[in-house]
Amino acid sequence: MTELQRDDNFHWTGEEVECESGIHWAIAEQANGIVAIIVNSPGGVLTGKQVRVLAEIVGEDGVIKNTRRMASLLLIPKEKVGTALEQLQAVGLRVASLHKSIRNIAACPGKGFSPNSRGDTLGLAQELDEAFYATILPWDFKIGISGCPRNCTGVQCNDLGLMAEPRGKYSLWIGGSESGMSPKHGTLVRKGIPREQVIPVVKRILEIYAQGAEEFAAELGEGARARLYHVLEKTGFERFKQAIEEVLAPQA
Ligand code: SF4
Repeated sequence: MTELQRDDNFHWTGEEVECESGIHWAIAEQANGIVAIIVNSPGGVLTGKQVRVLAEIVGEDGVIKNTRRMASLLLIPKEKVGTALEQLQAVGLRVASLHKSIRNIAACPGKGFSPNSRGDTLGLAQELDEAFYATILPWDFKIGISGCPRNCTGVQCNDLGLMAEPRGKYSLWIGGSESGMSPKHGTLVRKGIPREQVIPVVKRILEIYAQGAEEFAAELGEGARARLYHVLEKTGFERFKQAIEEVLAPQA
């Protein structure tokens, strides 16, 4: 089994961001010369203090753009990037990844906010972020969590989607993609996954994804940007399904 590795050790040179493991961290010069920093915020949650610091970084007339993945994108001149990174760190904020790792985890408001919710979404997004932030992967890996079948996060449009069920359980989809030239819906793998098994299940999926990308590297092509659905096409769905059942077996 491929052992997952993590690497959040990146360096801003003053011109670009470097990371030995190849993770593309979201500090990128835009077409107009301004640098965009995407701030990691699982479920789009920020504290008041953190929002105040984001406002300080961009300045009175600066711009913060929210992304589709519920993260805040700071648009600042290049010379402000080094200081901005220190300011983010001081309030517990981390830079999001763009490629070769987990993208900012999207989640609807869920339990405690939405009257329709069947379970927790934001707490789970936070836990998944703690467990898998900076994990080195073949390419982007998007996770979305919805609190009920109204599905405001569109869980089937993520590499991995979770939907809360009653009594602390979750349904799981894998292999979706919301963007790119061939967007597709993921496939329902399993219902009734207990909350405490979500992280072990996601870990196993990431391991098989990384292993499959290695195993089929020649077929996927040199420098392939292999998303989970590409790997699924090679390994078949059953490999994932069986591995998930193995993780869940002791709970049965
Ligand atoms: S998916 Fe359900 S719980 Fe989440 S915001 Fe939408 S309606 Fe509310």
